[in-house]
Amino acid sequence: MRKKLVVGNWKMNLVQPQALSLVESLVKKLSATDAVDVAVCPPYTSIAAVVQALKGTQISVGAQNVFWKDSGAFTGCVSAPMLADAGCKLCIVGHSETRGRFGKLEIDADDVGYFAETNRTVNQKIQALLYHSVMPILCVGETLAEREAGQTDSVIQTQLREALQGVDASELGSFSVAYEPVWAIGTGQVCDAKEASRVCGMIRRTLADLYDQQTAEGIRILYGGSVKGSNSKELFSQPDIDGGLVGGASLDPNDFTAIVLSAV
Ligand code: PEP
Repeated sequence: MRKKLVVGNWKMNLVQPQALSLVESLVKKLSATDAVDVAVCPPYTSIAAVVQALKGTQISVGAQNVFWKDSGAFTGCVSAPMLADAGCKLCIVGHSETRGRFGKLEIDADDVGYFAETNRTVNQKIQALLYHSVMPILCVGETLAEREAGQTDSVIQTQLREALQGVDASELGSFSVAYEPVWAIGTGQVCDAKEASRVCGMIRRTLADLYDQQTAEGIRILYGGSVKGSNSKELFSQPDIDGGLVGGASLDPNDFTAIVLSAV
């Protein structure tokens, strides 16, 4: 039985005093809850302070992105060993906002250089994180145009296959996938729970094809995209959904608490 996992992705929000006030509130509200794994992913500038504030609690800290090289002349980047050193236990990779929102870049591809995430760079990031024992949360999902063209499953299968190239089953003990339909992120338009569960089931079957059934059964598959306290219970009670990746609602301690408690 997989323990459910709920992760808050704060995105580019909250300066340090606000971050500390949010985690202080979460610690009070969630102190009696250990039936669900909980994590928050602050911006880099607050990671150290949040790690310190959450020491001794059951809430873990993650990052929202990583660069795949360990060190070097990569101005503005943060590496997997730096995240591990800062106390991060997990890291989001392949979020649609780092791949290029709505599946396409908002600026010319030639101007983006290293920062436009592709399945290949996502693969490099996953390998770097696994090497440094930071759990990757691989985001996959289709755009609205891809869904309307009937390409949802094939797009996600390609994202999984290319992101996991060269990664051995033995390394996936600490690894999660988040199904995040791009059209549902930050739009208030949540995916129908049964359809989200169908896609998460398809993701598990794809992982079983790429590896084996036992490995696939051990990987948590989260749903993300406009999760709120009002819709989380239905989502998390679906057989193939093992928790959530929560953006906007993770900034509100009451809503995030309600989401976590609905996973119990
Ligand atoms: C996200 O950022 O991963 C996300 C799912 O955002 P939201 O919950 O705001 O849709």
